[in-house]
Amino acid sequence: MNAKLLPEFSILLGVRLKDVRIPTHAAILRTAFAALLFAATIACSQAGQSLPKIKVLATGGTISGAQTSQMEAGYKSGTFSVDDLIKAIPQLKKIAELSGEQITNIGSQTMTHEVWLKLAARIDEALEVSDNDGVVITHGTDTLEETGYFLTLVVKSAKPVVLVGSMRPATAISADSAINLYNAVALAGDPQARGRGPLIILNDTIHYAREAQKMQTTRMDTFASPNRGIAGMINTGKAFFYSANTARHTTKSEFSVDGLTAGNLPQVEVVYSYTNLGGEIIDALVDQGAKGIVLAGVGDGNTTDAALAALERAAKKGIAVVRSSRTGSGIVDRNVEVNDDKLGFIAGMELSPQKARILLMLGLIKTTDAKALQQYFYEY
Ligand code: ASP
Repeated sequence: MNAKLLPEFSILLGVRLKDVRIPTHAAILRTAFAALLFAATIACSQAGQSLPKIKVLATGGTISGAQTSQMEAGYKSGTFSVDDLIKAIPQLKKIAELSGEQITNIGSQTMTHEVWLKLAARIDEALEVSDNDGVVITHGTDTLEETGYFLTLVVKSAKPVVLVGSMRPATAISADSAINLYNAVALAGDPQARGRGPLIILNDTIHYAREAQKMQTTRMDTFASPNRGIAGMINTGKAFFYSANTARHTTKSEFSVDGLTAGNLPQVEVVYSYTNLGGEIIDALVDQGAKGIVLAGVGDGNTTDAALAALERAAKKGIAVVRSSRTGSGIVDRNVEVNDDKLGFIAGMELSPQKARILLMLGLIKTTDAKALQQYFYEY
């Protein structure tokens, strides 16, 4: 080989000249041919860069709802099918290779454990058996955060899982459904969204499902992440992440849907605290067979003396009692105004009552030990 060409050739192959042993003619040709082939493969794959494969799993909600008249506040959730949703936004074809599956078509106020289990199984199939790059779940906003948190605990893939809803049906003036779905599909195909656990997207804002909470009845900025803050922002499909999800989730979670049926999920109920709450509701839940009770306490997870006494009776019978707060944000830690050690209670930490219920249900499948259950509330 012409010695003058050696430096260029070595740079091309990413090796230093002093490391190059002078090879035979045939070896040089073989190496050069391999380098060319490699470069050509890269060039081809960049030119025809394939779009991410995204599966849309539709469950209903306002995002697939319609009004009878544009000026009406009233509408019906779950009017449009998944195919209608995909077809309605031709821009989606430019950013993803899409397929759709109708899981159900309901208002999320009627979401059920059966649908959760089906959804979790279909997500794992779409991401770990089939070769999709990400999943989008269209869902009503009323219980979006609950489904999102359940999936955070049980999905077994690091690939993006994005839940999306809308506050106005597609037929409304200034509907938010199309842009929210566009952003969701873009995010599901974005490698930045990998390994973060399920995300919720609405109103150009990205939330970790663990953090997200619906805070307002009708406005488009209804979702907030009141404890740890939002995950990031998204601007017409371009995502900017601001924070990491440090709680345990998906591939690092010990929970799964293996062997679970709606029938064998332990019964866990939420009791809402208020002035003068008596103990009767709590006693009735115990008599009726509840395995766990989450207190949506006032302030820092507090309640009346009568309710506290009833919760103590419940804990003594082996029912798991978790204290959380109805305030909407903050941490309910152990032994502040209530002596959890003495009463055998579990502190719900950062979880809202509705999310504490989900973690307690999954936790109770593994153990009824209050200390072990408390550990889950520290980690998830
Ligand atoms: N009730 C509706 C639902 O959760 C509200 C919405 O989607 O925004 O399905």
